[in-house]
Amino acid sequence: MIPYGKHNIIRDDIDAVVDVLEHHFLTQGSKVPEFEKALCDYTGAKYCTAVNSGTSGLHVACLALGVGIGDYLWTSPNSFAASANCGLYCAAKVDFVDIDAVTRNICPIKLEQKLLTAQQHGTLPKALVVVHFAGHSCDMETIHALCKPLNIAIIEDAAHALGAMYNHKPVGCCEFSDMAVLSFHPVKSITTAEGGAIVSNNKILADACALYAKHGITRDIDQLSSESEGPWYYQQLVLGYNYRLSDLQAALGISQLKRIDSFIQQRRELASRYLDALPNLPLKLPTKDSLKESSWHLFMVEVTEHDRKSVYEQLHRLGIGVNVHYIPIHCHPYYRDLGFAPTDFPISVDFYEHALTLPLFVGLSHAEQDKVIEALRSVLQ
Ligand SMILES: *Cc1c(COP(=O)(O)O)cnc(C)c1O
Repeated sequence: MIPYGKHNIIRDDIDAVVDVLEHHFLTQGSKVPEFEKALCDYTGAKYCTAVNSGTSGLHVACLALGVGIGDYLWTSPNSFAASANCGLYCAAKVDFVDIDAVTRNICPIKLEQKLLTAQQHGTLPKALVVVHFAGHSCDMETIHALCKPLNIAIIEDAAHALGAMYNHKPVGCCEFSDMAVLSFHPVKSITTAEGGAIVSNNKILADACALYAKHGITRDIDQLSSESEGPWYYQQLVLGYNYRLSDLQAALGISQLKRIDSFIQQRRELASRYLDALPNLPLKLPTKDSLKESSWHLFMVEVTEHDRKSVYEQLHRLGIGVNVHYIPIHCHPYYRDLGFAPTDFPISVDFYEHALTLPLFVGLSHAEQDKVIEALRSVLQ
């Protein structure tokens, strides 16, 4: 079975991890700070806190902003549940803005309308989590222009988008956001097994992220509320969590990040091959404009004339491990119990009902990709 996504591990990665096992601290050594610095260099952001998952990163980003009881957090329904759960972890209320049918990202027009209504009702969100779906950046300049005058913080859920560009700059540079959250789960651009990071240009937020990710405990003399009692001294200042990444994982991340340019180039080349091969089939394809800038985390098509479930099943029988992204967050039973109905965000639901994720990952050979294309032809024609 050709999977829809897969990590790429070579000898260098293995050697980097083994080196830590043999010679270094397993946690809280030099590898995590080195990985954080490498992520800053790559994205152009000033500060970085590595954490043990993208989900932890989203949680910590919300805590750093002070999201809490009585606040609203908005996000896109077309995402993994973590994009919304972070608000609920902080006891905030979560709401959604539907997507644009072409970009499949949060729709700036719907955002503007919803902000206007919320302003009238005094229910403006404290934070907006935008999701760069499949690795295509959201329209950050417009979103920033809408949110900043209203003092709404912007968190980029960039779990799909390490390696993507927006306006000729790397996603994660945070030009139009307060923080961006990365994930290093094995299907993402680079992997540390589990892992994530928050990047930011705002020192106060970055310090808060680091504090919340490390038990709320500090040894930094400038942060202590009273004089140090000795060299051993530390204080817990807030209720934090143990969301630390280990040095083993950071070593893997450093090694992986060295190859990101070739990873993204391969993903773009594979996406481009799909875009060339598939136009004659009854499928709605991702737009070509994003070809150069996207990190192509996912190659999503919409099945326009056939039953999606039957296409999915036939492809699986042919050894093609297509997948579906995403069941809209508001459609999950947990969110329905909070009062949401599928019809609340119809574009996301319509996309979900037709969506199919084709195999795309570093190491997918042209022969395998041709097999996917042939299988699609045989099923759809
Ligand atoms: C993967 C993912 C996350 C969560 O990342 P983990 O590292 O798996 O916790 C969050 N948001 C989106 C959109 C994702 O795809």
